[in-house]
Amino acid sequence: MAYAIQIQKFGGPEVLTFAEVQVGAPGAGQIKLKQTAIGVNYIDVYHRTGLYPQPSFPFTPGSEGAGEVVAVGAGVTDLKVGDHVAYAGNIGGYASERLLPADRVVKIPAGITDQTAAAMMLQGMTARYLLRKTYKVDQDTTLLWHAAAGGVGLIAVQWAKKLGATIIATAGGMEKCTLAKSAGATHVIDYKSEKFVDRVKEITGGRLCDVVYDGVGKDTFPGSLDCIKPLGLFVSFGNASGPIEAFNPGILAAKGSLYMTRPSMGAYVATRETLHETANDLFDVVKSGAVRISVTGSYALKDAAQAHRDLEGRKTTGSIILVP
Ligand code: NDP
Repeated sequence: MAYAIQIQKFGGPEVLTFAEVQVGAPGAGQIKLKQTAIGVNYIDVYHRTGLYPQPSFPFTPGSEGAGEVVAVGAGVTDLKVGDHVAYAGNIGGYASERLLPADRVVKIPAGITDQTAAAMMLQGMTARYLLRKTYKVDQDTTLLWHAAAGGVGLIAVQWAKKLGATIIATAGGMEKCTLAKSAGATHVIDYKSEKFVDRVKEITGGRLCDVVYDGVGKDTFPGSLDCIKPLGLFVSFGNASGPIEAFNPGILAAKGSLYMTRPSMGAYVATRETLHETANDLFDVVKSGAVRISVTGSYALKDAAQAHRDLEGRKTTGSIILVP
């Protein structure tokens, strides 16, 4: 018997309904995965609300998971029944079993559990491409990271520290700021009680940041632009507080000939080579201990709505998972 969360219409957490589903045999090039853990990500909220609409109903949200291969389709030669694999970016994750294209999963290396893999693939590969590809962070970089105690945030702060950067981290409340600091942030700002632009100016002595990573969106715009040096980079990679409204690109000129990008992980892991390069880099930093994956919440699959309430209610830190 297989189960999944389904969405029949866009809306609040209540539209996440638990249903029995039929999962067929894998087709050519596919595997069937019995999932042992499923990652919960902010993108799941955008899928649920329709901010990132899906083409038809019902659909199963969730873009990340891990588990055991229980069947392989024709032509699949590099995976076998019993292998433990993980994936990120393939919608349909909130399910006990599912089919996946074999070339979009990666084997989980020894020393990493399914739960850790499910918690880190999407957030960790995002941190990786943002820090290593979108902007090449190194010891000369001063960066600002918003929502640093969240899933992507806690991984990114640890990784940026390993790269030697000066990290200014924002988070909502003292407890979250303490977490970001212990993950390796050089400076922390409680953006609920402090004006983050003023604090960044103060911390950098007016020199500002080379790059600002902003997954908060509406609430931190355009303030984030005021934290960037002339010719620096604004990376708008998410919209936890809502999307940034349309603006005149002239603002980028006025604030110092800034660059802006709105990246998405899909383009950075589009080929099998880039997927493996990104995942392997992530596995390496986790196995070395440089990046610790903090799984702070585990919910039964049928309780996905509660996981969404907690995530949207800003109650979570680090990564959270569902267990089928
Ligand atoms: P988080 O665990 O970071 O949760 C979101 C956090 O955003 C909250 O904990 C909260 O932290 C902060 N936040 C600020 N304002 C709000 C608000 N109004 N409502 C809710 N939360 C708010 O989520 P993820 O790690 O899953 O994702 C982080 C961001 O990265 C998201 O925007 C997501 O869409 C984006 N993302 C982008 C990808 C890409 O390739 N472009 C891929 C993966 C994620 P606090 O209380 O500290 O403010």
